[in-house]
This record gives sequence, C-alpha cells and structure tokens, in this order.
Amino acid sequence: MKQIYLDNNATTPIHAEVFDEMLPYLKEQFGNPSSVHWAGRAVRGAVEHAREQVAQAINASPAEIVFTACGSEGDNYAIKGTVDALKKKGNHIITTKVEHPGVLEVCTYLEKTGCEVTYLDVDENGMIDLAELEAAITEKTVLISIMWANNETGTLSPIREIGEIAKKHKIRFHSDAVQALGKVPVDVQDGNVDMLVLSGHKIGAPKGVGAIYVRRGTKLTPFMHGGHQERHRRAGTHNVAGIVAMGKACELAVQDLDTKAETLKKLRDKLEAGIVAAVPETLVNGHPTERLPNTLNISFAYIEGESLLLNLDMKNIAASSGSACTSGSLEPSHVLGAMGVPVELAHSSTRFSLGPETTDEDIDFVLQELPPIVQRLRDMSPIYPGQDVKTQCCTGNCCPVE
Ligand SMILES: *Cc1c(COP(=O)(O)O)cnc(C)c1O
Repeated sequence: MKQIYLDNNATTPIHAEVFDEMLPYLKEQFGNPSSVHWAGRAVRGAVEHAREQVAQAINASPAEIVFTACGSEGDNYAIKGTVDALKKKGNHIITTKVEHPGVLEVCTYLEKTGCEVTYLDVDENGMIDLAELEAAITEKTVLISIMWANNETGTLSPIREIGEIAKKHKIRFHSDAVQALGKVPVDVQDGNVDMLVLSGHKIGAPKGVGAIYVRRGTKLTPFMHGGHQERHRRAGTHNVAGIVAMGKACELAVQDLDTKAETLKKLRDKLEAGIVAAVPETLVNGHPTERLPNTLNISFAYIEGESLLLNLDMKNIAASSGSACTSGSLEPSHVLGAMGVPVELAHSSTRFSLGPETTDEDIDFVLQELPPIVQRLRDMSPIYPGQDVKTQCCTGNCCPVE
C-alpha cells in the first residue's frame, strides 16, 4: 500500500538535490572549515556559499546569518541572548499564547529568573490584536517575539505591522519563521525583523541544522561558549554537511515560490472542501485566508484525534494531532485552547500538512478513506448523539442548528 505523508509541519523528507549537494561533505570533503590547510579551505568555501544562499532567501546579508543546530536553538539564542544583552534596559518580553514550545518554554523559564512576560491572546482564528500588542509595551520591554506562521494551524501573523510597531518603539523583534520559509514570502527587511529563526528539516534539509538571522548591529549574548566559530556567536565545529544542505534547501525553498504555494493551496483546499462536504460537524481551525497554503487543522466532533490518527496510520496515511512536540501527551493543544476551541473539539483535532511531494492521488485517497473512519469512530463514541441532535460547527464553537 502506498505511503502518504501529510505531516510536513513535523518534518520533511530530504530533497533529492539537497542530498546530492551534501553528500561529498559526508565523504571526501571532511575538513574542518576553521583549519588553514587545504582540507579546511575546501569546505570553508562551501560553508560561506551556504551562508549566502540562506541570506539571499530572506533578503539578508551573509554576515547576518549564524548557523545553529536547530530551530529550537535559534529561538533560545534570540530570546536568552537578547534578555542578557539588554538587561540594563529592562526585563520585559512580549510574546503570544500560541508560540512554539521553543519560544514559550524559554519564556516560562526566564520568568523564573526574574523576567516579566506578556503572553498576548489570540482571536478565534489565532490572530493577535495589534492594539493589544502596542498597549503591552512598557519602558522595560526589550523584546517582541511573535512567530511568522503557526505550526499547528498555519495562521500567519501580521509581521509587517508588528515590525512597524517594534521599530516605532525601538524594541527588538524576533520571529520564528521555521514554518514560513518556502510556503510564504519571508523578507527580513519588509518585516522589520531583527532576528529570524529557520530550521533545516522543515524545508527539505536533514535534522540537526538551522540558522538564525541577526540584523547587523544587534547585540546578542551567545549561550554556546568555547570557540571562535560564527564570529564568536556560536561556538562549536561547523556541521558542514548540514550547513551545505541548509543552504541548498533555502535556495530551493524560495525558487518558484508562488507556483509551489499555489499548488499546495489547491491540494489543501481540495482536501478541506472534500472533508467538510463528506463529514458533518467539523471545525476548521486557523485563519480562513491568512494561513499557510499547506496546512489544514480540523476538528471532528465526538471523536479522539489520537484514535483517528491510529486508524489513518493503518491506511498508511501520516497526519498529526497538533504539533509533533505535544502529540503523545494527552494535553489538548495550547494553540487551540488560546483560540477558544472547546477542549473536546481540541482533542478531536487533526493536522494535515502537505508538502512538495503531495499528489492529487494522495488527497483522493485520504478523501476516500477518512470519512468512513470518522463515522466508525463516531458510531463507537459514547458522546455521539447520532441523528438526534444536529449541530453545526462554526468558527470557534459549535452551535445548534435551528
Ligand atoms: C519545528 C519547529 C521548531 C523547532 O525546530 P527544530 O529544528 O525541530 O528544533 C520551532 N518553531 C516552529 C514553528 C516549528 O514548527
């Protein structure tokens, strides 16, 4: 049976061209890029080429790119590094309730060390309120950290407007753009972003490499000490093969972006419309228009998301409940919770995230297999009222049909 992978927001397969590009650096090109001899020189050029590729993908300069081991590292570095570098100015961070744990848990940790954190609410579509953001700013605010695109729902933040507010108040703006690159345009100048975080394995590079953009002149205290690599901003011998892959993946991610995004959106919309038409009492979570083109997060009233995932897996369909980092826990998603989705519906939510390899046949197969699975699970569900009670899900909650 064919394997269908609709969990690209958790990780992506390595792109064939990326794999070819990195392979020599796992074999004959073994040098340490910090070495002065021939072996080092050969790979140093490759690392610097990758830096240019990353910079170009987000409209930055190569000197503003620091390679990291992952997206979570970039988020940690941006936030902890800022708090330490600006401790004379203040100790207040503004973020949102729907961030990735790589941001949220850094903030809760920093609260224990004396920082103050404002967690902005979001509306039923997962959107923050810009007036609330501006009102939260105090004399002590050192950082605004708001993600470019949400990994669970795909909701896109109003980055340009947030950047303008940050600039007006001379506050640093960090954005986790791990889910955004390759799906929507990401431009650090246009967004007025001071620090931007990327991860390789979400864009067709292998796991274990990432990058952070740090705007020129932005002082950040490094949290990896020990070597002079990355201009003292990140100690540790370069993951050369990973970095080469990261560079290539960034180059490919922004190539023909509009066309690729359009294709993803068509398939995603077909999946969404097909499910909503075939399965009653569903709720699509996320913004109707301001959303990643590849992401569909949908609640199926009366069933457990985890049971649905297991049943889909038996058909070789890989999807996810919320984020990979929280699946396996029985906690309902903090993202859906912040959006006001009732707990039962949050428990029933399932995320389908499409990728460049998703085909029309994949979507047809899901549309054929999923509705009977949902019906079977509902028939077994003690809370399923069957035909008696008709409810209709609308944005944010379920309401009875007249
Ligand atoms: C996956 C993800 C991360 C973490 O990236 P890793 O490279 O896995 O550490 C951070 N933020 C978002 C939005 C993500 O989707």
